[in-house]
Amino acid sequence: MAAQRPEVLISEVAPRDGLQSIQSIMPTAQKCQWIDALAQAGLKEIEVGSFVSEKLLPQMADTGTVVAHSRQHSGLCVLALVPNLKGAQAALAAGAHKLSIPISASEAHCLANVRKSIAEMLEELGHIVRAVEQYNATSSQPPVAVEVGISTAFGCTLQGSVSEHAVLTLAAKCAAIGAQEVGLSDTTGMANPAQVKRLFTQLHHDLGDRAGAAHLHNTRGLGLANALAAYEAGVRTFDSSQGGIGGCPYAPGASGNIVTEDLVFMFEAMGVSTGIHYEQLLKARAVLEEFLPNEPLYGMTPAAGLPKGFQWPTP
Ligand code: ZN
Repeated sequence: MAAQRPEVLISEVAPRDGLQSIQSIMPTAQKCQWIDALAQAGLKEIEVGSFVSEKLLPQMADTGTVVAHSRQHSGLCVLALVPNLKGAQAALAAGAHKLSIPISASEAHCLANVRKSIAEMLEELGHIVRAVEQYNATSSQPPVAVEVGISTAFGCTLQGSVSEHAVLTLAAKCAAIGAQEVGLSDTTGMANPAQVKRLFTQLHHDLGDRAGAAHLHNTRGLGLANALAAYEAGVRTFDSSQGGIGGCPYAPGASGNIVTEDLVFMFEAMGVSTGIHYEQLLKARAVLEEFLPNEPLYGMTPAAGLPKGFQWPTP
C-alpha cells in the first residue's frame, strides 16, 4: 500500500445502495465478512447500511450490528444512511462515524423515497444536525459528521428534468442548516458529463469545502465519463459500488452505481492514487459473488483483466 495520502476517496456504497436494491437478503455474518474484505482492500469509507423501517427494507434490518462490527477496522469511516431523526439516533447509538441524509431535489422523488416533502426534509435535517451536535458535545470519540446527498440532482424518472438552480439552492440550504458536506447524486443515471461538470463547479463555488461527493449511477453507460467530469470540476470523493450493484427502490428504472473496480482502474491508470489494492478488491468481489450467486455483477476491468504490462502505480 502506498504511504502517500490517496488523492481521491472512494466511498464504497454497495452494502447499502446495492443490497437494498436486490430481493435476496444477505445474512449479517456474510455482510460483515464482505465488508472486512473491502476494508482489507484499502477502502477508507464504506456505507454499510441504512437505518430505515425494517418493513420497508428488510435487507437493512441488521444495520446496527453491521455498523458495530465495521467499527473494528481502524481508519475506516463507517457511514450509515439515515432518512430521519429516529434513524440518526439509532445510527449514533450503533457508533456510525458519519451520517448520510438523502434529500431529493425532485419533490416527487422526495415523497416517494422518504415520504416527506423537501421542506419537511430540511426541517428533519435541522433536527438531525442538532442531535449530532449534542452527541458530539458529550462524546469522547472523534466528532460524527453529517453529509447530505442531493438525490435526483441531475434528473428524476418521476418528475423528469430538475432545475439546476433548485439543486444549488437546496444544497446551499443544507450547508446553512449545518451539514458538513453536501454532495450530488445521479440517483436515476440521467446525468451527462457537461451537466456534471457545470453543477459541481458551481457547487464548489457556492459551498467551498462543504461541496461533497459525486454519487453516480451507470444506467446509461455514462458513469465513468461523469466521474471524470466531476474530478475535473474538483470533486475528490466518489461513491461507487463493488460489482456495480445498486439502484433505488423508489426510482423506477434506476440501475447500478458506477463500478468500484472500474473506477479504481481509471484513476490509477491516470496516475491519481486511490489507496486501494486492486487484487484485494477482486478478492472482495469473489466474496460478494459467492454470497450473491444469483445476482449479476458488473464491471469491465474485472472481466477483461488489467492491460498487459500494466504498471500498478501504487502497489
Ligand atoms: Zn444511488
